[in-house]
Amino acid sequence: MAELIKIVKGQLTENEPMARHSSYGVGGPATAFIIPKNVNDLSNILRFAHSHKIKTFFVGSGSNILVSDTGIDGLVISPVKAFTHLSFKEGNIEAESGVMLGRLVRESINRDLTGFEGLGGVPGTLGGALMMNAGAFGHEISNYLVSITLMSMDGNLHILQKEEIDFSYRYSSIDKEAFIVSALFSLKNCDAQSIQEKRKLASDKRKSSQPLKYRSAGSVFKNPNSTTAAGYLIDQAGLKGLRQGDAEISKKHANFFINHGKATAKDISTLIQIARKNVKEKFNIMLELEIKTFGFNERELMPNG
Ligand SMILES: Cc1cc2nc3c(=O)[nH]c(=O)nc-3n(C[C@H](O)[C@H](O)[C@H](O)COP(=O)(O)OP(=O)(O)OC[C@H]3O[C@@H](n4cnc5c(N)ncnc54)[C@H](O)[C@@H]3O)c2cc1C
Repeated sequence: MAELIKIVKGQLTENEPMARHSSYGVGGPATAFIIPKNVNDLSNILRFAHSHKIKTFFVGSGSNILVSDTGIDGLVISPVKAFTHLSFKEGNIEAESGVMLGRLVRESINRDLTGFEGLGGVPGTLGGALMMNAGAFGHEISNYLVSITLMSMDGNLHILQKEEIDFSYRYSSIDKEAFIVSALFSLKNCDAQSIQEKRKLASDKRKSSQPLKYRSAGSVFKNPNSTTAAGYLIDQAGLKGLRQGDAEISKKHANFFINHGKATAKDISTLIQIARKNVKEKFNIMLELEIKTFGFNERELMPNG
């Protein structure tokens, strides 16, 4: 660790509680949480971790992750508050992975560019959105993507064109061992009124259907198919409002699990097990997690684990 501390030019915090970097507000410590200063710093850190075989994980702003109470044994690297360059040249957008999605949406709308307005209200960074292929109300972040720049663990940069990446519902084939550095998008101009109407519609739908007053990570499970919502199945299994410690299956949206304040990761993982068990028994469907989990073994999240 002493050697690593000498290398890092950005921020490094040892034993950093991941609860501070997760929208659930739960999760034990990471061995070290690092925000690199720039691309050079990132390259040196990744090369060091790779050559010393240190386990390394990437997060954005933690709005789609669940970290166990025991935490993460390894380095956690995030671009938040450092990789924040965003520039527009007509409809061509260059953005670094630490840019918050809300800023990207807002600044695109301000320039009368259409394509991102349906994503207003999706929390998180651009890097997280690309890895998750975040989407809402028929829009996905990948729709207007041109290319992505990644850094592999050997510290080298690689550019991938959109055609080289598979994107589908909440899935991207981007290498999980690589750090997303930046992306290029191309949007078209549209009349301001139509963009504002679409933005407002998306925002109103979100406010009326989601428990936004509480800490959550959005949808816990993927919808099994385009006509069956995971939240509907959990609701029909009679689980809305079910509480485990300070965690609850939201009464407003059964696919959102909320933290009333003092929930632990164990409380949330127990609700995951209960939801999977009941939905499997009632509908013979095994729900697939949308959220990304860190520090769990698979069994702890399965119905009879
Ligand atoms: C209230 C609420 C509402 C939500 N609504 C929606 C919605 O409508 N639609 C939707 O799609 N999602 C929604 N989400 C989930 C979440 O906002 C998105 O998945 C978001 O894109 C995650 O971004 P993040 O920066 O927080 O990523 P994180 O949660 O930090 O990470 C998500 C994944 O991306 C990886 N990752 C993050 N950054 C990088 C990087 N730079 N390089 C490599 N890998 C990286 C992580 O390893 C992890 O696997 C919602 C969440 C909340 C809390």
